[in-house]
Amino acid sequence: QAVSRRSEPATPRDLLKSVFGYDAFRPGQEQVVDAVIAGKSVLAVMPTGSGKSICYQLPALLDEGATIVISPLIALMRDQVAQMRQLGIEAASLNSLSSDAETSATWNAIRARSLRLLFLSPERLAIPGLAERLSRAGFARIAVDEAHCISEWGHDFRPDYRDLRNVAQTLGIGQVIAFTATADKATRDDIAARLFSSEPEVFLHSFDRPNLQLRFAAKDQQRRQLADFLSKRRGDSGIVYCASRKKTEDLAAYFASLGHTAVAYHAGMEQGLRNRNQDRFLQEDGIVAVATVAFGMGVNKPDVRFVAHADMPGSVEAYYQEVGRAGRDGLPAETLTLYGLEDMALRRRQIDERELSEEQRRIEHRRFDSMVMLCEAASCRRQALLAYFEEASEPCGRCDCCRNEIKLSDGTIEAQKALSAVARTGQRFGAAYLADVLCGVASDTIKRNGHDAIKTFGAGRERNKAAWSSIIRQLFAAGALVNASHEYGGFALSETGLDILRGGRPFQLREALQQKATPAPRKAR
Ligand code: ADP
Ligand code: ZN
Repeated sequence: QAVSRRSEPATPRDLLKSVFGYDAFRPGQEQVVDAVIAGKSVLAVMPTGSGKSICYQLPALLDEGATIVISPLIALMRDQVAQMRQLGIEAASLNSLSSDAETSATWNAIRARSLRLLFLSPERLAIPGLAERLSRAGFARIAVDEAHCISEWGHDFRPDYRDLRNVAQTLGIGQVIAFTATADKATRDDIAARLFSSEPEVFLHSFDRPNLQLRFAAKDQQRRQLADFLSKRRGDSGIVYCASRKKTEDLAAYFASLGHTAVAYHAGMEQGLRNRNQDRFLQEDGIVAVATVAFGMGVNKPDVRFVAHADMPGSVEAYYQEVGRAGRDGLPAETLTLYGLEDMALRRRQIDERELSEEQRRIEHRRFDSMVMLCEAASCRRQALLAYFEEASEPCGRCDCCRNEIKLSDGTIEAQKALSAVARTGQRFGAAYLADVLCGVASDTIKRNGHDAIKTFGAGRERNKAAWSSIIRQLFAAGALVNASHEYGGFALSETGLDILRGGRPFQLREALQQKATPAPRKAR
């Protein structure tokens, strides 16, 4: 039953209160809701937790507003259907887990035109004939949730999303509204081009999440660093993201041995156990979920107090989406992201191994560079993060950099050594190679290139390779180095870099990383 079928038509604000129980729209919601009701095609980019769902759920309650929602995750879909029904909204879903009885009940409701919201998985829509059957069912619009899945440039491409534009045409539905938390310009343009037949109205909601505290640390002793972080947050619910399934189980066991209530979660787990762990996390207090990125999409728990990354995320979007699962209730929440050289090498290798065009591969490497820069940033993290989403802001005063947890000291000499190594090897090698040159490691490649004979070879023996790699990344983060044009992961000098090399300007290094260098052996007094 459409809620507005009463004598007085209900306004969106009335419905927000009477159906959803909320007193006011959150920033951004109302404009999107208005545009949707006005029949416009909409692409809304809103950060995780900002309340995207209302933007398609609420308009669906109005007359002539019945909506097909395309959503990539079946678990998420079933959750939403249950939530809608609890609110007294007629909703159903068609997906591969629906029983025959459910499916036929859903079809009856579709034929009776009683549904306000029909949730569909994209692979269902791809079933021949289904779109035709639905085309006669009076739906007003298609809402595409997690719309970045349509873009091969996004971090979560789903082949089933590819044909959605054709599906809308087959359905004879003109209005498409799309939602995503992924916001960089390339992905946005790609979504607009692939999903809409004409320019959509784009809503960009601020990405700032002032209640999230952002903190990064170079990985030196992963377990100890995470244990320290958790020990200060006993009794809070939180998520620790890991790059591998095995690590989720190892770390969960380790945290449990320290007295935390920790559960593992990854896609390779037996379904029953995985669901139990997820349910515990959702329902109990103070559970630490140790998970791969499979965990989280659609996990709607407002009071997650912290998110930690045991390993470096693959992109700024993925990073922000993951840390964004903390503090959805608006109360302070903390994050810690560990990053290391091995992470960087692994991610680069993954990009190289993917089947991509050269152009896409270059874009992926650049994307990853942005994540590296965020990790190595020496000034406000939030500012750097928002700048990535093309949002200007002032220093936040709360992140690790703003709070001076990261001490800077003069590193001009080190910078000059590293820049000289870049210049003398022809401006095309990556951090690992340059670090070898600086440390005087005569690898076969270095010998073959004759780089064991240059002046900079061994000029940085007082530091280890990890320290040099970090210094090189910091130079990159500061814009003193840029990507070499022809070699992936290779560096060339920028104007700033040349200036530093010639003694024209100083360079500040992060102390935390300087300490990582093995101290020179000290003589006993
Ligand atoms: P997103 O999909 O953007 O990550 P959701 O739609 O899941 O976010 O909403 C996040 C949380 O915010 C949910 O718990 C939802 O119930 C709540 N919420 C959404 N809109 C409002 C509002 N106007 N007032 C209060 N809470 C809201
Ligand atoms: Zn800051």
